[in-house]
Amino acid sequence: MKSHAAISKTFLKDEPRVDWHNKAVYNFREKRDLTVKSIPEWEELRELASSIKENVLANLDDYLIQFEEKAIANGVNVHWASNAKEHNEIVYSILKRHKVEHLVKSKSMLTEECRLNEYLEAKEIEVIDTDLGERIIQLRNEPPSHLIAPAIHLKREEVGVLFEDKLKTEKGNSDPTYLTGEARKHLREKFLNAQAGLTGVNFAIADTGGVVVVTNEGNADLGCNIPPIQIHSVGIEKIIPRWEDLGVFTRMLAASATGQRISIYTSHYIKPKDDDEMHIVLVDNGRSEHLGREDFRSSLKCIRCAACMNTCPVYRRSGGYSYHSTIVGPIGAILEPGKDLKAKSDLPFASSLCGSCSDVCPVKIDIDKQLYKWRQIAVREGHVSYLKTKGMAMAGNILSDSKLYNKWAGIAKYLLRKLPRWMIYNPLNAWGTSRELTVPPEQTFTEWYKSQNHDSKNELENGQAGNS
Ligand code: SF4
Repeated sequence: MKSHAAISKTFLKDEPRVDWHNKAVYNFREKRDLTVKSIPEWEELRELASSIKENVLANLDDYLIQFEEKAIANGVNVHWASNAKEHNEIVYSILKRHKVEHLVKSKSMLTEECRLNEYLEAKEIEVIDTDLGERIIQLRNEPPSHLIAPAIHLKREEVGVLFEDKLKTEKGNSDPTYLTGEARKHLREKFLNAQAGLTGVNFAIADTGGVVVVTNEGNADLGCNIPPIQIHSVGIEKIIPRWEDLGVFTRMLAASATGQRISIYTSHYIKPKDDDEMHIVLVDNGRSEHLGREDFRSSLKCIRCAACMNTCPVYRRSGGYSYHSTIVGPIGAILEPGKDLKAKSDLPFASSLCGSCSDVCPVKIDIDKQLYKWRQIAVREGHVSYLKTKGMAMAGNILSDSKLYNKWAGIAKYLLRKLPRWMIYNPLNAWGTSRELTVPPEQTFTEWYKSQNHDSKNELENGQAGNS
């Protein structure tokens, strides 16, 4: 499998697209900042949201059982799936029992994770993604490249061409209002034809047994209210304890994701419609194992707002597909190695470790610290190249010893001036393919410091000047 660095190369070849993608994604970050600044109690809300989720993770088994009991009492069929295969089989068994051939689905990263569409399509069930962005990428046969804006990598002209081909829209018309109207007509037909609707879930409330689905398009509501069968797929970490906790999360999710005060639709599904069926599938798929990882368990607090990727300089300039995972960006880089360290050991290195992701995270996940910890594990378990491991160990020795550092700074200054260009800028040195070294100064800092007539000998030997 290709690494993040290798896949990014393809994305980076198209510089105008990289610039445009960077701006489009950062636009979310700017909107988020404006809204957050207008909420004086933002930091208190973050603290509260984080502690509610910490409590959930510490008592997950109890909350899940409470949730199940309440949901059953509400007349809901509750199912447990330990992995993706079980989840898909449960959904299929419900659909098969009702002879469902057409399913509408609202946005669900969990069903992406379980590859539900492929599974059901192989059983000849039509699955229609009804979120506009999801439908666009479904028509292109692509996975999402962002948590809340799955088609963020596409320009409207590309969507126009796609719709011309698939929905027979006017040639050359890529006006967003026109395209959205056409998609609406196309989807309306699919809703009316559907025999079952499936949604992802943002929050599952233990003390009511109900689930909450947040959208800006209202597509989940149509999917749940038109067909007689409704199914909700829920990752077990989506539990919150009480009804009154919900307001904390709906505020933080809307602000962090799109800079909205509140999302357009916050829909509550508690019991089946008259004579209809409601199913909830609670899915583990590696979450319990992740819960057992002391250093990484807090990543299960994630509410999938995407703020961390919107702020991440690496995500913005390398695109979602370079993460070769369902969950992309900084949160993906700490969740995915837990599923398959060998295949995903490159992801924790796809970061500048600037910490901006942790600063914006509404539930205070220490993402940058976890990235660093995964790096250490990846090195320890032999998933990082010999050259990089040894190179970094050598750099660590030099940078932690001021005498050694001063010696090497003098040598490096000389070498970098004398070395022929091809020794740095050649195909064997990945660093040099997209960077240019600045010309080393005539004096190192230490030499300059001494030249200023400081009584530097003692300071330098004690490492004070070299470390300043
Ligand atoms: S890690 Fe934090 S910022 Fe990133 S998606 Fe999850 S909740 Fe949002």
